[in-house]
Amino acid sequence: MASRARSHAENVPGSFFVDDTCIDCDTCRQVAPLVFADAGDHSYVRVQPGSHDQERAALRAVLCCPTNSIGTDDRARTREVVGDFPLPIDGDVSYCGFNAESSFGGNSYFVRRADGNWLIDAPRWMPALAERFERMGGIAAIFLTHRDDVADAARYAERFSATCVIHRADATAMPSATRILAGEELQTLAPGVVAVPTPGHTAGHCALLVDDTWLFTGDHLWWSRDQRRLSASRSVCWFSWDEQIRSMERLLDLRFSWVLPGHGERAHLDQQRMHEEVAELIARMRE
Ligand code: SF4
Repeated sequence: MASRARSHAENVPGSFFVDDTCIDCDTCRQVAPLVFADAGDHSYVRVQPGSHDQERAALRAVLCCPTNSIGTDDRARTREVVGDFPLPIDGDVSYCGFNAESSFGGNSYFVRRADGNWLIDAPRWMPALAERFERMGGIAAIFLTHRDDVADAARYAERFSATCVIHRADATAMPSATRILAGEELQTLAPGVVAVPTPGHTAGHCALLVDDTWLFTGDHLWWSRDQRRLSASRSVCWFSWDEQIRSMERLLDLRFSWVLPGHGERAHLDQQRMHEEVAELIARMRE
């Protein structure tokens, strides 16, 4: 539970605050960007919610924070927004919320499909969220982009008897995985659902392409809020930067208009612009 006594000095006075347990995962700044801002190595409340929508977004951020670092005078009101998750993004794609500290606050996503729903990476275990998934048709398969963002995937897999997919090179992070990918070829996992091996951040990192539209990118690729362009970072590349550049080049052969990352901002551009953005990023990565 966040402590007002340990509240950061930058918070503006009012109900919401961030304390010094914040791990700077960026989640609150994505969920409620008008309320939370970046102080360099932690978040703070730059403005107290001034409307119903802003307050609702701030309450959602309280639930999404992986470290319980956001406090509010009336935490019981978070019950009002539990049912908002998974939060719709586009089409049948939703953001799960309830980010897990074990995945450093990584985002996870839920995709409704006629032939079985997909969870991409996993949130922390939350019975109310599992009930929502149940009402939406359950989870047929869980796709883990890489070893860092597994969170409570095993509990969701067990709850829904879901297939759990991960690449062999990262599979030690998910011993109960039931489908192990190998190699660097694209693999169709279901109609319209394609695994795209993208080694670099980790040896077994993979992206997931759905319907040539939504690319779930884990920690391979994200949108930079400050630079207003696609980004990848050598500072968080644990395996091989040269491999990550080669993996990025592979994306030039794909069509997609959304980038949905584990960390960082989502991006939605038309396919041609997205292709150009990826090409420009590759040129920067090679420098
Ligand atoms: S969601 Fe929580 S841990 Fe993440 S940046 Fe915000 S306050 Fe910090």
